[in-house]
This record gives sequence, C-alpha cells and structure tokens, in this order.
Amino acid sequence: MSPVDLVVRSARVRWAGEWVETGVVVDGGRIVRLAKDPQLPTADRTIDATGLLLLPGAVDTHTHFTYGRPDRTDIGTGSRVCASGGVTTFVEQAASTPPHCPPTLTVASLGAKVALGRAESLVDFGVHGGGCSGNLAEIPSLVRAGVAGVKVYMGWNPVGEYTACDDATILTVAERLAGTGAPLEVHAENPSIVAEATRRLKEAGRTRPEVYTDSRPTLAEDDAVARVARIGRAAGAAVHIVHLSSGFTLPTVRAARAAGTDLSVETCPHYLYFDTSAYADRGPYAKVNPPLRSRAEVEAMRAGVRDGTVDFLASDHAAPSSEKAPGAEDIFSIPPGFPGSETMYPVLLQEAFRGEIGWDRLLYLLAEGPARRYGYYPRKGAILPGSDADFVLVDPTATTTIRNDRLHHHSEFTMFEGWTLTGVPVRTVSRGVTVAEGTFPGTVFDLGGRGEYVPARAGGERGPGGFPLTPR
Ligand SMILES: [Zn+2]
Repeated sequence: MSPVDLVVRSARVRWAGEWVETGVVVDGGRIVRLAKDPQLPTADRTIDATGLLLLPGAVDTHTHFTYGRPDRTDIGTGSRVCASGGVTTFVEQAASTPPHCPPTLTVASLGAKVALGRAESLVDFGVHGGGCSGNLAEIPSLVRAGVAGVKVYMGWNPVGEYTACDDATILTVAERLAGTGAPLEVHAENPSIVAEATRRLKEAGRTRPEVYTDSRPTLAEDDAVARVARIGRAAGAAVHIVHLSSGFTLPTVRAARAAGTDLSVETCPHYLYFDTSAYADRGPYAKVNPPLRSRAEVEAMRAGVRDGTVDFLASDHAAPSSEKAPGAEDIFSIPPGFPGSETMYPVLLQEAFRGEIGWDRLLYLLAEGPARRYGYYPRKGAILPGSDADFVLVDPTATTTIRNDRLHHHSEFTMFEGWTLTGVPVRTVSRGVTVAEGTFPGTVFDLGGRGEYVPARAGGERGPGGFPLTPR
C-alpha cells in the first residue's frame, strides 16, 4: 500500500465534547480518518503534535482584501495574514475597488475575483455577492455560482456602481434570494439617523474622536436590524447581519427569530474587547463602522456570544484607504476600519484557555458556525473524515506579545498592540499543506496561488459563467 500524504501523531482533538488524543490521517488534501497512533499508516510526511491541540482552521467570512490601497492589501497579502492567524478559509466581501477587481455584482465580476484568488491566495476562499438596483437580474446566477450571500448597503455607496439600496430594493433583492439558502446580508445602520446625528455634532463643532459613537447611535443599528428582518421574513429569505456592534440590539434579534425570521448575526472581536474609552486611548485609530460602544454594550455582546444569540465571529478585516494620522482633529475625515484576520483566532483562544467561553462554543463561533451558515460545512469548519485537512496546531504553553511590525498585514496599526497571549497557533495547515509555522505570528511560506475557490452550498457543479467550480 502506498503511503498517505501526511499523518499527525498524538494530537489533542475536540471530539463529542471532550479532548481525545488521536492521530489524524490526511491524503489528497482531506482528512481520511482519525486513528490511535499504533494504527496510523505510513506517510510521506509526519508531524508530531505531542502536547498540541489540533483545531479546525477558522472560517473568516468578512474580509476586505480587495478594497482600498493595493500597497496596503491584496488577496495575496490577505491570505498570508489568514495563514498566520489560523484562518484557512476567508470569504471576501463584494465591495472591491480598482485596480484589484470590480465589485462582485455580476457572474463575470465574480469570475474576475475567483481568478485573482486562484492566482494569489495561499488558502481557500469564498466570495460574497453584492445587491443593488443595477444588478437585480444577476442575483439568481450569482447564487448558482456559489456566492456566500448577497450584501446590501442601506445608506452608503461602497463603490461607484454598487449603490446603496432603499427599502423597496432590499425587498426585491430578498425576493430574488427566497428559497435559495443564500442569505440577504446587511450592513445594518439606518442612514438617515446616522446622517442627522452626524450633522448635529458637526454643527456644534464636536469632531474629536470621543464623539464618534454618538454619530452612529445604537438606535440606528437596532432599527435597521428590525426592519431588514421584517423584509426578509416577508420575502421568505434568510437574513444575515454583518458586524453587529451593539449588545442592546440582541433582544431585537431574538424577537425577530421568535417571529419566524431565519436570522443570523455575526460580530467582530473588536466589539468584544474595546469600548468607547478606546477613542481617548487610540484617537483616530479607533474609528470603525459601526462604532465602538459603551462598556455595558460590550458586556451584553459578550453574553450574546456565549449564549448563542450571536451565531459566529468574523474579522471585518480592512486596511484603511489612507492614514489614520495621530492627533487628527476631525474624526469624520478619518477612514474607518481595523485589520483583524490575523489576530482573531489567537486572541479568542484566550477566552477558552481562561474558561470564559467553552471550547466547543469557541470552535463553533470561529469555524463550524460560519461554515454551516454559508453551506461550506462539513468540507470546511470541521475535523471530520472527509473534511478538507484545514487545521491549526495550538501550543497551550506558547506565549507571544502582539507587535504590529511582526504581523503580516501592511497596516499601520493593530488594536491589539502589546497584548500578551499564552496558548497560540504554532502551525497552520491548509488542505494538508503547512502554510505557516512557528509561534504566532510565525513564518508564512511563499507557496504562490494554491488557494481554491469554495462555492457556497455547491457540491461540485459548474459555474454558469464558464469558470469551473471546485470539483469535489
Ligand atoms: Zn465589512
């Protein structure tokens, strides 16, 4: 019998709610089986994982690697950030800017993004579609080609032809998505409430970073969530709220579900760790949309993450399009956004090591939950026979201190600067291939474009745009 590609010996794997010590057999990029060490077959490569946890690679469903300055980010850089941070699948947002590629509003533009990903990405990736008044006819074919969901913006045009939607357009997008399983995805902030709150602050000459939360009140998010949930329920479409920021909106989420809406919610690590005091501490660097909230809202969001109201976590990784100049006087002129794919898994691991979040809940939040919502599970997000061999080895004793200049993004800052973590990734494996190694942030290997496009909810069909979807 010829040897298999890889065996990992003596790893600790989470299985049926417990830790078990097992070997993991990998062949052809997939997990073939789990077996005790004496039963492991001969292999071309062996990894001794004694003392290490073997965890599913994270599925980061909210990245902006093709938006903004190309010297700050591109898919190649973004995928190296992922490899370093234990993210083995990222799902790129629809809003892309030149010269990267066009926004994903048509099957042709999806094909352009898929081609870019295949050429540059070190890890596997999915793609979100966008919805607006100009592409309503394209939505069914975008869904058939495997976009994760279709995202609408209520008040801001992210890119030229990717225009903001009024309620009637959102309803029409939802009708196109009904019955497909692809969720209507929404940046949920009522734009007129934000516009008026901003106008009042500017009129009063209040433009320091400390006022930023007041410019985008919780009411704006709460109202948008309730409204979009009603639209989705009326249309029979699934709804997904991206980057929910305010813990005080969680009762609205629960009420919408109780009323029968197929509603999922993601939040981002920054809404679990940073409150409005960050505007005083970090000034313009702390600007993100939606904004950081009060400590009470952060605590409410942390409770929602633990109790299951929040479905999963995503980074909303962005490298802002211009400098967040220190000491900038006018917060409204500063670009929003945080880099975050690289730090998400290492930082969240601390919650499990400290016992704040159970291990199974943590792995659901980072891997299984997002993979299930978008139909990537169990190919992605699981350590199961048949799943892609996407995993992270974590050393519970390894310690690191986060320094921006050691991270792989080309951003000028990280919100987690100076944080010391114990229990961090020491190796990331993508379809059986080691893509990063060493105590986080380790060395990322330059393996060129080896990432595959992973269509959502698809089992190997051929894309209508003529480009082949990944065969299974
Ligand atoms: Zn985003």
